[in-house]
Amino acid sequence: MSSKQPKTLQDAITYFADPKNAFDFAVEMRWPDGVFCPSCGSKDYSFLSTRLMWKCKACKKHYSVRVGTIFEDSPIVLSKWLMAVWMLVNCKDGVSSYELHRAIGVTQKTAWFMLHRIRAAIKAKSFDKKLAGIVETDETFIGGLLGNMHQSRREQVKRDAIEQRRKKARRGHVGKHIRTGDGPLVGKTIVQAVLERDGEVRAQIIDRLIDGPMFEFIKANVEKGASLMSDQRAAGTYGPYFVHEFRGTYVSVEPYHLSAYVDEQCFRFNRRKQTDGERFTRAMSMLKGCRLTYDKLIRAEQA
Ligand SMILES: [Zn+2]
Repeated sequence: MSSKQPKTLQDAITYFADPKNAFDFAVEMRWPDGVFCPSCGSKDYSFLSTRLMWKCKACKKHYSVRVGTIFEDSPIVLSKWLMAVWMLVNCKDGVSSYELHRAIGVTQKTAWFMLHRIRAAIKAKSFDKKLAGIVETDETFIGGLLGNMHQSRREQVKRDAIEQRRKKARRGHVGKHIRTGDGPLVGKTIVQAVLERDGEVRAQIIDRLIDGPMFEFIKANVEKGASLMSDQRAAGTYGPYFVHEFRGTYVSVEPYHLSAYVDEQCFRFNRRKQTDGERFTRAMSMLKGCRLTYDKLIRAEQA
């Protein structure tokens, strides 16, 4: 990385406001070992400097730095995208679509979509190694969500949660004994987490406190032979972290987006000892090969 790379939010705003800096940075992140054609892999190209595009001499296709990244097909300039990534990975309590909308001058709806694209990329590539050593496991209830909502909104969320459970049950996704009434878990969220001592955390949203899925989650995220601990002290390590984060920024997060938010918290937590610049660079390197269309995002909401 060049020494010019920004270190603080203020640096980043100034540095990426220059479209050339934003472009050069995105190129370095997209192709750390040199530019090549996303279609055929050829390194033989000509660069069209007025359009900031390459033309592949092998397959004759044109390509930009955005092809195959979360920026593809987005009309938003790179400078704004980079600021969005910076804010999402470095603001300790996360960033809401309203804050981003005001900070970079896009509509709130656009900001919402940008944040979800970035979260999707982080989610897809965050968890590529298993936890080992002493691993603590626990479940944290996020119960403050409904309490902070307006009464009518609260009723709606409850109805949605019940309806979602019914739908899932019909599709056979959960066991027969689902809660369909106004039970203690309706509208509440359970985050199951495993934490490597002094290491990384993995977390997921679960429907209910039943053994099967929890065991599967541990198996998928923890090395064989690790010593697994399940006690209350574990909650002291990461519990308040999650609870604090969720009660802060995400008071009105809809249930269907919660897992993306949880992954975002994990990303920041797992890189808590890095500098803002390092965290940003890591996130930027994850943005290729991950696209999320608006349709897909909206479909996920309605599923
Ligand atoms: Zn090519």
